[in-house]
Amino acid sequence: MVSKIVKVTCPFCGSDKTSKNGPNKTKKQVYNCNNSQYTHHNFIEQYTNKAYLPEIRNQVLKMTINGTGTRATGRILDISKDTGTAIS
Ligand SMILES: [Zn+2]
Repeated sequence: MVSKIVKVTCPFCGSDKTSKNGPNKTKKQVYNCNNSQYTHHNFIEQYTNKAYLPEIRNQVLKMTINGTGTRATGRILDISKDTGTAIS
């Protein structure tokens, strides 16, 4: 039996030492990151809420520092303004 191995990269540390950990309660595939250099963490392959991704977070923070309103930040990054407020 040959099974196709799909490499999933951890969105937090970029490691590809990841393993499947079954679906969560919203039926999304959960992965474990096995990068020993970092605290062990889980992630979901496709985050519904993009604001959880570090790159989006950084962008929100940058925009907040530059004085972009949370409403505008949310519109530009396509996240809810409440999410923007929660991060900043
Ligand atoms: Zn990781």
